Amino acid sequence: MLQKTSHYMRQANLIGGEWVQADSGATINVTNPATTLLIGTVPKSGQSETRRAIEAAEAAFHGWKKTSAFERSKLLRKLHDSIMDNQDALAELLTMEQGKSLAEAKGEVGLSAAYVLWFAEEARRTYGDVVPSPWVDRRILVTKEPVGVVAAVTPWNFPSAMLSRKIAPALAAGCTAVIKPASQTPYSGLAWGALCEEAGFPKGVVNIVTGSAAEIGDELCSNPLVRKLTFTGSTEVGKILMAKCAGTVKKVSMELGGNAPFIVFDDADLDRAVEGAMIAKYRNSGQTCVCANRFFVQAGIYAAFVEKLAVASEKLKVGPGLEAGTQQGPLIDENAVKKVEQFVRDATSKGAKVVSGGKRHPLGGTFFQPTVIAAATPDMMFMKEEIFGPVAPVFKFDTEEEAVRLANETEFGLAAYFYSSNLGRAVRVMEGLKYGMVAVNEGLMTTVEAPFGGVKESGLGREGGHQGIEDYLDTKYVCLGGLGI
Ligand code: ADP
Repeated sequence: MLQKTSHYMRQANLIGGEWVQADSGATINVTNPATTLLIGTVPKSGQSETRRAIEAAEAAFHGWKKTSAFERSKLLRKLHDSIMDNQDALAELLTMEQGKSLAEAKGEVGLSAAYVLWFAEEARRTYGDVVPSPWVDRRILVTKEPVGVVAAVTPWNFPSAMLSRKIAPALAAGCTAVIKPASQTPYSGLAWGALCEEAGFPKGVVNIVTGSAAEIGDELCSNPLVRKLTFTGSTEVGKILMAKCAGTVKKVSMELGGNAPFIVFDDADLDRAVEGAMIAKYRNSGQTCVCANRFFVQAGIYAAFVEKLAVASEKLKVGPGLEAGTQQGPLIDENAVKKVEQFVRDATSKGAKVVSGGKRHPLGGTFFQPTVIAAATPDMMFMKEEIFGPVAPVFKFDTEEEAVRLANETEFGLAAYFYSSNLGRAVRVMEGLKYGMVAVNEGLMTTVEAPFGGVKESGLGREGGHQGIEDYLDTKYVCLGGLGI
């Protein structure tokens, strides 16, 4: 292992500026999904460690909230530079624990740094208002203040970037944080502790605990010192956390599951649509919440689309993420593979046809073949559920109304994609899709400048854009009276 990588690979929790083990000494094993070999261990912390982390964050908040926006911005810029200076080491660590190709891991680390820089800039622009007063002797001020201690719970699919768009706006706003990374990929989360220390953030501003999700989650949700919970993960767990946060009426931001439609109309540029489909489907081996889950292709272009997508899918180089040239790594674990197999079995039993892939990859372990499935129908599992794997089911449709109706027939509403060269149709469909994000003639749209987030059961709140810092701020109305004017 590279020396730099090991420097950022922390096998301890960060509480109040100290790197510590769990009170019980218990640990969790972390394995490399490409080899199934043990990488190392991290503390299995629980309620008491989490409570101490919250108290440390609360103690640090009193000083941190008084720093100037300019000062916080400077520290965030240092953090950005430190991430970029160590991009290779951080990417290697990410690939080791998560499985994605090194190229994608580098991209993710770059995106993390970009969020930090964006919020370093936004820190200085959290304007309030001075409102015209109906009273001559009073003034109306509306100010913005940091909410306080923020709890952040993140998933394993983007263990660095998902944290970045929570930590960066929280710190920019003047909040302190207690972070719980996913147990499968804790090292990219713990690395943020080392990076924040190096950048010079005061002790206790950033705290990180790993361990029992339920125990840590319960304390984060019930402790009154925590004023906001920001979560990225499944809708199922998101609902549990929202319900638990109700007890202390915390602000919540939820980036939950998706069931993205990818619609291709007869008038689309076919090659461009296939190129976009490859990115929207196979990025991170299909394990992103904005991955295309259901392809709806108009009858006139259906056969050609399926064929081209199958050809392109077969060309994808599957392998260990650290190996040069790899485009698709393994799935996160055996359960993920079993789930994908279940989707394929369900579809074929209902009349679908596997056009390419469809099975575990000859590499073994949790590698799975990029898969294209034709003749998909709405009674199949992937109409309702998130696949989270490299399987592309292609449905056929006839009319625009039918496509929009099918696309919206889900409780999710995160990302949607469609391809058309007809401007009127583009506007109609864009307005008809009940989604938080819509990409027209593009297969990848995430960028720090734009608000990422969903509607319906895909979540609440937005990450990125100027909206991304709002959730970390409280609004205060001040009525300034008795002015004697
Ligand atoms: P995924 O399917 O992507 O793993 P999860 O929603 O299961 O999504 O997990 C996302 C994050 O939520 C992880 O950090 C996980 O450990 C955490 N988590 C899972 N269950 C709970 C829970 N009951 N309380 C708090 N956090 C939880």
